[in-house]
Amino acid sequence: MPVLLELDHMTIRFGGLIAVSELNMQVEEGKIGSLIGPNGAGKSTVFNVITGIYTPTRGKVTFKGQNITGLKPYAITSLGIARTFQNIRLFKNLSVLDNVKIGRHCRAGGGIFGALTRHPGIKREEKTIAEKSLSALDLVGLTAKKNEQARNLSYGEQRRLEIARALAAEPVLLLLDEPAAGMNPQEKQTLMQMILNIRQTGVTILLVEHDMKFVMNISDCVDVLDYGCKIASGTPSEVQKDPAVITAYLGK
Ligand code: ADP
Ligand code: MG
Repeated sequence: MPVLLELDHMTIRFGGLIAVSELNMQVEEGKIGSLIGPNGAGKSTVFNVITGIYTPTRGKVTFKGQNITGLKPYAITSLGIARTFQNIRLFKNLSVLDNVKIGRHCRAGGGIFGALTRHPGIKREEKTIAEKSLSALDLVGLTAKKNEQARNLSYGEQRRLEIARALAAEPVLLLLDEPAAGMNPQEKQTLMQMILNIRQTGVTILLVEHDMKFVMNISDCVDVLDYGCKIASGTPSEVQKDPAVITAYLGK
């Protein structure tokens, strides 16, 4: 499969700290890739670089063959990269559907306010937003809850709502930062099936996740970070056998 996302010697420092060092990594189109590693390894920082929140100190990020290093977050979103964050970031007083519409509007290039206003001049765009938002909700199994306030959803549902919001931007690449964190086994199972369904629609996925069983079950390829350096890469079974990975996880 063609490479969709490529990091080439990506390095980022925060003052004296090298958070990610010389990272080479690829995600192929249509695959589920995972980035794993102990706390503080640099995983979320990689997401922040891919999405333009941080500019790398050195190296390059290529998406669909285009150099996107240093582009602004909205430009990267509009090229087709969407993400969720490690911590839930919902508008708890808004409805489930409105939370998703906000994601849709980010792709359209407007602001949050525009996503929720009902000016007659933007009726047509509004319809598209509503339709796309509803199909995103459908993909995460929350259609029946579309008019609920986000605060009334269970924890697992809130995490899925965040994924729907990211999907509403119609991404080519979806970045999920610890989507299973805090979920019970049943919620994790639902989430896993949902991620597989999303891939089925043609979206490529890059996952950061701590639950090894989850990662090993769902991923096509896995990259392992430790203290900002890549220590292993391969299929789930290759990575699980790698002595460097075992050492990083079990302590030295
Ligand atoms: P992970 O997601 O793998 O747990 P992070 O990417 O959040 O790790 O963090 C990697 C390292 O970079 C940590 O040491 C963290 O404290 C540091 N770091 C992340 N963001 C910043 C920042 N904005 N300023 C300074 N240090 C940061
Ligand atoms: Mg993190």
